[in-house]
Amino acid sequence: MAQIVIKSLRKEFGAFTAVQSSSFTIEDGEFFMLLGPSGCGKTTTLRMIAGLELPTSGEIFIDGAEVSQKPASQRDIAFVFQMFALYPHMNVRKNISYPLVSQGMKRDQVRVKVNEVAEILGITSILEKPVGGLSGGDRQRVALGRAIVRDPACFLMDEPLGALDAEFREHMALELRALHDRMRATTVYVTHDQLEAMQMGDKIVVMNHGVVEQFGRPQEIYDWPATTFVAKFIGSPAMNLLNFNGMVGNGSAEVTLSDAAIPIPPMISGANGPLTLGVRPEHIRLDDSAAFRARITAAEYLGTTQIITLDTAHGPVKARAPSTNAAPIGATTGLAFDPRSITLFDPSGHALMS
Ligand code: ATP
Repeated sequence: MAQIVIKSLRKEFGAFTAVQSSSFTIEDGEFFMLLGPSGCGKTTTLRMIAGLELPTSGEIFIDGAEVSQKPASQRDIAFVFQMFALYPHMNVRKNISYPLVSQGMKRDQVRVKVNEVAEILGITSILEKPVGGLSGGDRQRVALGRAIVRDPACFLMDEPLGALDAEFREHMALELRALHDRMRATTVYVTHDQLEAMQMGDKIVVMNHGVVEQFGRPQEIYDWPATTFVAKFIGSPAMNLLNFNGMVGNGSAEVTLSDAAIPIPPMISGANGPLTLGVRPEHIRLDDSAAFRARITAAEYLGTTQIITLDTAHGPVKARAPSTNAAPIGATTGLAFDPRSITLFDPSGHALMS
């Protein structure tokens, strides 16, 4: 078991800074997601935790011990790569046994341990088969088996499901999470897929251009994005962001958009200037009597719900509504927002506290 503390971690490659002063804590037994778009520094962060890349500055502690400059071999962790290279000339049992055999464990003990792991992963029946003919899912399970057989304190996974098709990916994600719930080993998991991060993670770090934008539980991040980047990156469709000029603070409980007063949570911290109002599609109601006017431009049928796109003077807006609601294209309507679910962002794109 392992707690991992990251303090002001930074990585430069020549003149390029891939990770800028990241700080966060991964608690013992957590399933922890490093999430962000391509090139944001997720893999570099993971490789520094693994010891495959040394930080330019900052510290990494595993269970209280500083390991920042220690090689991978001196950290009790297992890395599961996306392109899991199984030994093609060995059968499944030999592939999983390999880490134990190379540690010098006795043959009888290895056999017991491998049987145990195969049972957990549901691959007992293929133990004696060559890896060459296995399906993608079974290969993934063998790779996982090889990683967990050593009982490491921590697993590091870099887009382990990236190569799988959508349906199978979802199935393996559930399996991985169930495996984690049984073993409770600290797991750090890199993904660019916000849905995967929300579904699987106990906590998420959202990164962008080497910077940690937010760190928290999936629901916190979804409900209270700390920046406009997070608001746009999490959720499908994303949070609506409406730009307006105005002033908030001193307990003010409304803002004015297109001459309509929009109730907001009373703001403690204040700001003035080009502000942004964020509201999720499910918190917008089409209401003919509402003063904030909009024109319906599209309706996308999704079964029980539909996504309605509307034009407003502050840009396009998407609303989620029951499919049974009428949404005639071209019609003008009013939009009402649930004030408790509004986030306001200051001119730098940071959320204002309510
Ligand atoms: P992806 O999902 O595309 O792998 P990522 O978020 O994992 O993205 P990193 O692989 O950590 O991103 O890379 C972050 C940035 O650092 C990228 O711009 C990448 O080109 C750069 N980078 C990574 N490794 C090196 C290296 N060894 N030398 C120079 N630049 C590097």
